[in-house]
Amino acid sequence: MQTLRASTFGLVPSQLSAAILDIIDTLTEAGYEAYIVGGGVRDLLLGLHPKDFDAVTNATPNQIRDVFGKRCRIIGRRFELAHVYSGRDMIEVATFRAPPRKPATTAAGMITRDNVWGTIQQDFSRRDFTINALYYQPRKGQILDFCRGMDDIESEQIKFLGEPLQRFEEDPVRMLRVLRFAAKLEFKIDPSIIKVMTPALAKLLLEVSPHRLYDESQKMFTGGYLAPLMHLMIKHQVWSVLFADAPPAMTPFIQRAADNTDIRIRSGKSINPAFFYAVLMWQPFLDRVHQLEAAGMPHTEAWTQAGVDVMRRQQKRTAIPRYAEVFIREIWELQPRLIEPRARQIPSLSIHPRFRAGFDFLYLREKSGDPVTMGMGQWWHDYQELDNDQREKTINQLNRQQLRAHRKKNDARAADERVVVQMDVQPIQLLPVEDDKPRRRRRTRQRDERQESEQPSQGLDGIEMISTDGDRPDTSSIDVNLPSEPDARQSSDRGRAPRSQSRERGGRQSEDRPLPRRRRRPRDLSTVFMGPY
Ligand code: ATP
Ligand code: MG
Repeated sequence: MQTLRASTFGLVPSQLSAAILDIIDTLTEAGYEAYIVGGGVRDLLLGLHPKDFDAVTNATPNQIRDVFGKRCRIIGRRFELAHVYSGRDMIEVATFRAPPRKPATTAAGMITRDNVWGTIQQDFSRRDFTINALYYQPRKGQILDFCRGMDDIESEQIKFLGEPLQRFEEDPVRMLRVLRFAAKLEFKIDPSIIKVMTPALAKLLLEVSPHRLYDESQKMFTGGYLAPLMHLMIKHQVWSVLFADAPPAMTPFIQRAADNTDIRIRSGKSINPAFFYAVLMWQPFLDRVHQLEAAGMPHTEAWTQAGVDVMRRQQKRTAIPRYAEVFIREIWELQPRLIEPRARQIPSLSIHPRFRAGFDFLYLREKSGDPVTMGMGQWWHDYQELDNDQREKTINQLNRQQLRAHRKKNDARAADERVVVQMDVQPIQLLPVEDDKPRRRRRTRQRDERQESEQPSQGLDGIEMISTDGDRPDTSSIDVNLPSEPDARQSSDRGRAPRSQSRERGGRQSEDRPLPRRRRRPRDLSTVFMGPY
């Protein structure tokens, strides 16, 4: 163990937040040891701005609660620790840990409980990487280094404390952490770690709680180094384990969204991590919409159902909370409305609570070359820059354009239909005009045809006609007058020809007989309910 002078490495208490100093001082005054550990120390040493500070102490969680009272909340089961509030800030305070006892692991070696308290010498070896195991006591101005972590910071290397395979099996989330730190710090990953990071090992992530993986995904998306991290995750095949349905490679849309997220974070703008989920799951969502539509589901219903289905599947990997799911689906549902807005809906669309996210999504799609947006990303972009008068003019202009496009579409459709109709009508034109020939009743026709086949010379004498004015003639004599030839009587289907024959006849009938005309009957409208559905 080396004790290093903190000021030699540029570390002074004035770099620290009031909250972390408060926690360290209060624990020290209560007679406990207290240090800052982990990312806070590492980032300060690298000249970066730490996103938070974590504290570690020899006080147990209950003792921490005794010291801080209502300011303290104990959380976690697998890894119990205290959340201590100082003003509006919250600091995570962990207790020194000893190596876990054997039964607290799964068959695959994953640690299910890590709450055996220990000494600082035991605690450092429980940490993941050497660069995360430096203990800083700001009041004493000391850094305790048990594993030459300072050397690895200087040589920019990520090394495991202990044997990599075992450390990954104890906690597969360390696979995500190693890649995250490599992307964030631009450090080299030690070859002993790379060697064991196989696709089979990545599958161990499936055993981790989806809630914990969702938290990890939040850290990935909001760190400001999402684009390089995604490349690493794809390369080391943990990507497809976490996001099984998302595209397995960087598409132009995903790349642009990742770059954009990083730029926003670096320039201090807010981002909602669920937005990137919407980007990742967009393609699986569209595929699902097509699948449902192909199965006969109406478009609007398919659009909603696909959102539900895609989210349900992803939630098995990363437990996206309900509020984030609603946000994601609202972004998707806004897309067609933003691409083809009705003129009178434009002002209300632009103040929709999800408008900004929906528009950003549309704009990113357009900028990454998605032709489906039809330039509406740019239109909405420009629209937001205008004053009220200009907006009204722009809406009117869009309305005219839409009407013109609509008319054009209708004309094209009508032209198409004309072509189809022309193709279809030709055989129909060959048919005799409906009233050219008198129509005969079916039975009469059948009898006549039977007679025809048996006595070819017999004409149409004696066959009843339906008058063209629609009056029904008296048909009572037809059955009585059926021919009494033995063949016809012996037919199993009395009075009818065998099926095959009848089908043939049907064919002939359509060629040389007019289509039957439906008789109009006046409807009794008093019984019809005329109200809305
Ligand atoms: P950052 O906060 O910048 O993401 P960090 O290193 O501070 O990085 P935290 O998740 O805040 O990461 O954890 C604080 C410290 O706790 C780590 O530096 C590490 O020492 C230890 N630690 C966290 N997670 C693990 C883990 N899964 N296995 C072993 N040690 C861990
Ligand atoms: Mg931290």
